[in-house]
Amino acid sequence: MAIHLPNRQLFIGGEWREPILKNRIPIINPATEQIVGRLTNSLTMSQHVCLLQGDIPAATAEDVEIAVEAAKKAFSRNKGKDWSSNSGAYRAKYLRAIAAKITERKSELGKLEAIDSGKPLDEALWDMDDVAGCFEYYADLAEGLDSKQKAPVSLPMDTFKSYVLKEPLGVVALITPWNYPLLMATWKVAPALAAGCTAILKPSELASVTCLELAEVCREVGLPPGVLNILTGLGTEAGAPLASHPHVDKIAFTGSTATGSRIMASVVQMVKPVSMELGGKSPIVVFEDVDLDKEGKLVYDYAGVAFNSSLLAIFQRPSGPSLVAFGQMGRYAVQHPESIASEFLDRLVKWTEKIKISDPFEEGCRLGPVYEKVLKFIATAKSEGATILSGGDRPKHLNKGFFVEPTIISDVTTSMQIWREEVFGPVLCVKTFSTEDEAIELANDTHYGLGAAVISNDVERCDRVTKAFRAGIVWVNCSQPCFCQAPWGGIKRSGFGRELGEWGLENYLSVKQVTQYTSDEPWGWYQSPSKL
Ligand code: NAD
Repeated sequence: MAIHLPNRQLFIGGEWREPILKNRIPIINPATEQIVGRLTNSLTMSQHVCLLQGDIPAATAEDVEIAVEAAKKAFSRNKGKDWSSNSGAYRAKYLRAIAAKITERKSELGKLEAIDSGKPLDEALWDMDDVAGCFEYYADLAEGLDSKQKAPVSLPMDTFKSYVLKEPLGVVALITPWNYPLLMATWKVAPALAAGCTAILKPSELASVTCLELAEVCREVGLPPGVLNILTGLGTEAGAPLASHPHVDKIAFTGSTATGSRIMASVVQMVKPVSMELGGKSPIVVFEDVDLDKEGKLVYDYAGVAFNSSLLAIFQRPSGPSLVAFGQMGRYAVQHPESIASEFLDRLVKWTEKIKISDPFEEGCRLGPVYEKVLKFIATAKSEGATILSGGDRPKHLNKGFFVEPTIISDVTTSMQIWREEVFGPVLCVKTFSTEDEAIELANDTHYGLGAAVISNDVERCDRVTKAFRAGIVWVNCSQPCFCQAPWGGIKRSGFGRELGEWGLENYLSVKQVTQYTSDEPWGWYQSPSKL
């Protein structure tokens, strides 16, 4: 089966445009470390032959200038009637058309995502369903926005009437990471367009292929020119000038805490609104009351949930329901050895050893290659005295590609790097605890605060621990489910602002107060000259 990818350019003002400086970035296949399409011009991956162009366009500040201008024009074209000030129902039609095209091209897009980002094909296909679902969801919310306009505000004086208009913020810059390339972009593009903003998307240079296909989808559905512009390129060359452009009215960023902080520093003087979805180090806490012998049903089977949750959370490449996953969910606390910890860990290791790590196109693949310096973290953990219970190396059967075995590390102290820093890879470090208070202390012992999970048979305990977790998302007896209806985001150094749900739409709206004087009686501070 052949997958073809046409040569793409930057998508600006509804058209493909070559970067001004004509620079391009090679597409590296993380499963082979080869430049896709260049070395062999065709690449065999489990019977799939891929004929990719081999590179993506690399935008620079010159292209950013043109794209921001295009977005600005699209925002105000025809006094906004072509997009920003038209009804939500009008914009919803485009969002639904995009969703339908994504669904139509799901199989091809899934394959491109798997080749480009290294995620298992099954998971990439799952992502495409989520992408289409997210566009559909924000089409609904765009329609709902119309009936929410002019919502009255009750005032203490009946000589005044007040209402609220929700208006798009303007031109927004959307900067996204490599781990869920098209899905992370969609979490921003769909609500931004639903709100009536016009946007410039800058996906990760490590995985931009499907975002460029989103551009083609927008062209096919006739999205008004300039409403969505897509600039691929390096963070420093394309992302930085975009974020700091004076005509960009808001930045929505997902990526590492270090980059988020750099972006905030660069725009501080412009007092520009930003929303930040950053790194994490999210705990799963497993209590002794789980029944280790029960496996099977998901919700009531605590052993199953515990194993599945932890494995999902850490080892599955970020997939539809597991986003905090992949190293962000990098710490694990289990109740003390004399109760369940040692047996739990034995079983966890057995499950880990069964995870299929392979070419993302191989049947049953559950873990693909990763773009991170994971092995360095593992080496440091060893040198600091931690014990590698499982994994810890490159898989023996794969001598090419950025693969790392799913790894479990014990004998960890709270001062070790592996406990403190985000490892954005399949690495789990484990500590035991003996009391609930101690578990909570361990769980909150981090600068991050994205997700946290509790696994226990005791409902009241789950409630207590949920409240005590310092995190933006808490999962109880599960880990990683992600629904586009529910808010997503962190606290502390995991960021601020919320994506998804109605909160995601609010991210791109400003609230305008309109207050009208309705009485015939004179009102004011200064006296009329006729009365003086
Ligand atoms: P990254 O910070 O390296 O890059 C993210 C994006 O920022 C890329 O598009 C990159 O080109 C761009 N960028 C880099 N430098 C820039 C600059 N100076 N100015 C503007 N843009 C710049 O992150 P990554 O490696 O792609 O992704 C992994 C990180 O993302 C992890 O830390 C992970 O925890 C985080 N993440 C968080 C969430 C969440 O929901 N909070 C979800 C997914 C990933």
